Amino acid sequence: SKEDVQAFLKKNAFVLFTVAAVVVGIILGFALRPYKMTYREVKYFSFPGELLMRMLQMLVLPLLVSSLITGMAALDSKASGKMGMRALVYYMSTTIIAVIIGIIVVLIIHPGKGSRDEFMKQSKIEDISPADAFLDLIRNMFPPNMIQACTQQFKTKYGKRIVHVTMTVNDSVFNLTNLTEQITREEVIPIPGMVNGVNALGLVVFSMCFGLIIGNMKEQGQPLREFFDSLNEAIMRLVAIIMWYAPIGILFLISGKIVEMDDITEMGGQLAMYTITVIIGLSIHAFIILPGLYFAITRLNPFIFIMGLVEALITALGTSSSSATLPITFKCLEENNKVDKRITRFVLPVGATINMDGTALYEALAAIFIAQVNNMEMNIGQIITISITATAASIGAAGIPQAGLVTMVIVLTSVGLPTDDITLIIAVDWFLDRLRTTTNVLGDSIGAGIVEFLSRHELQAKDVEMGNAVLEE
Ligand code: ASP
Repeated sequence: SKEDVQAFLKKNAFVLFTVAAVVVGIILGFALRPYKMTYREVKYFSFPGELLMRMLQMLVLPLLVSSLITGMAALDSKASGKMGMRALVYYMSTTIIAVIIGIIVVLIIHPGKGSRDEFMKQSKIEDISPADAFLDLIRNMFPPNMIQACTQQFKTKYGKRIVHVTMTVNDSVFNLTNLTEQITREEVIPIPGMVNGVNALGLVVFSMCFGLIIGNMKEQGQPLREFFDSLNEAIMRLVAIIMWYAPIGILFLISGKIVEMDDITEMGGQLAMYTITVIIGLSIHAFIILPGLYFAITRLNPFIFIMGLVEALITALGTSSSSATLPITFKCLEENNKVDKRITRFVLPVGATINMDGTALYEALAAIFIAQVNNMEMNIGQIITISITATAASIGAAGIPQAGLVTMVIVLTSVGLPTDDITLIIAVDWFLDRLRTTTNVLGDSIGAGIVEFLSRHELQAKDVEMGNAVLEE
């Protein structure tokens, strides 16, 4: 009946708008391609998309901090310890599975045909050792200056170049500039209007400790708990407003990118095979492994759960940034999938920062592809090294566009592959980045669903203790 249709449209308005935005964006993008817009015109054209990106990123810092603090403060340390362990086990195991899938598909499909006689070129970035990279990861967990942590990504010798590269790549969301040139340039150039230069890892560690402490502080902690609770609520209301704008932004992000991209038909055969290999790997992880895991643990239909995430997944596709997507991921999980807020607040910010299945899969796969191009056979030891460094690199990668390409340097240097060869895959990275970001967001969201299910007894016990109405199962 008419009412039913209306009710359906109302309930699914966001999802419909978002899906329509993608379709219209793709059509518009291809329709405009023949006009060969200049770089400046493309920038103007995709301006509404750039605005969406900025709005979402604007909320990331306050959202991350307030949700983690309130999330931790709401749980007692025993419960949060248990949930934290579950989340960590989930993150680590899914990341490792992703890496293994990446390695298997690239070894089977073998997209790289050795085309070089002289390999092992002297790497330009020779002073980055995996050990330095690991230490940097840990360093970043403890930002010496909290204000600085809110404004910059890294602050170490090794990090300096990365800062520069990250920022440039970051700034070039709409502009595929030559990354090699940027990597080899040494100076740190502050980019005006830099987007999302947050040391998320440091903020996550701080906020978790802080939340845990004010949660244990009895009456003395009350003002702080109320403050962050109310801040979190206010930010989520801002998110609700931005969601109305999101479809417009996504439309222009997608069409702008299509207008600007290089001609696909000029792509070399190897690169095409490489792209297909990555798509196959990511699909196995996103459509088989993650839903399968969700079903195996919860016995619920994973695809219904995924349907509730459509807006977040499309936002990830449009923005190529899992941290910019974070506000939308929150909304989808809490409102569509009714995941407990005590879980989302606690699990999602951490997941968006350290759990990147798509990136891990990608980095391992790309490293072996580069080895294949260089005619280097990787022995089992090297493959294990790649697995470990790809996992670490995915943890260290920020949830911003093409961050994974930058942390690739760590993986390549760990097995002596030429870091210059990152340039081989740059041409397709903007596209693959979107796919791996979507996989990252899916992994975080399914993780929240699984951790909620595993923690249902603790949550119920807490509800009884607090005298909350216990939700019926
Ligand atoms: N863009 C990805 C993300 O935000 C990170 C990456 O480059 O792999 O999740």
